[in-house]
Amino acid sequence: MNTLAAPNTFAGGGLDRHSETRRDASWVAAQWARPGARVLTMRGGDPAMDGGRLALAPVNLAPLPESEAPGPAPGGQNGMPLFLGFDATGPVFAVEARENGPGAFADLRSVAGALTPAEASMAATARALFGWHARHGFCPSCGASTSVTDAGWKRSCPSCGADHFPRTDPVVIMLALHGERCLLGRNASWPEGRYSALAGFLEPGESVEDACARELKEESGLTAMRVRYHSSQPWPLSPLGGQLMIGLFAEVGDDRAQADGTELSDVRWLTRKDASAALAGTHPEVTAPPAMAIAHQLIRAWLEE
Ligand SMILES: [Zn+2]
Repeated sequence: MNTLAAPNTFAGGGLDRHSETRRDASWVAAQWARPGARVLTMRGGDPAMDGGRLALAPVNLAPLPESEAPGPAPGGQNGMPLFLGFDATGPVFAVEARENGPGAFADLRSVAGALTPAEASMAATARALFGWHARHGFCPSCGASTSVTDAGWKRSCPSCGADHFPRTDPVVIMLALHGERCLLGRNASWPEGRYSALAGFLEPGESVEDACARELKEESGLTAMRVRYHSSQPWPLSPLGGQLMIGLFAEVGDDRAQADGTELSDVRWLTRKDASAALAGTHPEVTAPPAMAIAHQLIRAWLEE
């Protein structure tokens, strides 16, 4: 399939990140000084909004601030800007506002589905980066305080010389298929009736296929016979921030599925008719994930096969 056309929220934003040139501080300062430069303000992972769109404010042509940390700076000023990239209009930066600063901020989970792909990508990138900076102030190698370089895309340790880069945690999410049915599972903590595709973190030493087979076996007892990739989705909304959801189809050998009773309280097979009704919100017992979740898109893609 054409993965660039996959309709996953937060994917396909088309930002030109200039990942090579953003290492050059003078180049970054020149982008900040361009007349068309804009800045997105984030607060606690949520974007500033204006009339239902991301509030991309013109940079007030002050020199690029040089405070040490990306987060809110002492004295209540916004922290060091991160360079997000170029959208169709020009360079875009992100700053993080202090906790009780002015401005209208919207819960990213609530508004993401209504943003353009470029807007959703900017907000996801900024949220994941600020979350990473907030948790990585000290060098994991030697414990010294690290400093920010590369327009916010690297932390360097002045003590041992180690460089640290923003991390992304891969998660496999799979729609198990058997004949003309798909399997959905339910976590006991979810709202009543909510079911979704099975999922779990990739572990060190595993391939995507290995992780898919293990999670499927652990959570439902099923054995994966064939695993197919569908698409992926950056997922900045979890407490840890920067996850990548890797969407898969897993054909299984039999339909003897059983919920593990810990992660999942129930699993159930859905026919195409049932799955279609769950997506449409008309199934009497099963509510599918919203369209912004890759699980929704996996079910839809299977129905359209
Ligand atoms: Zn160090």
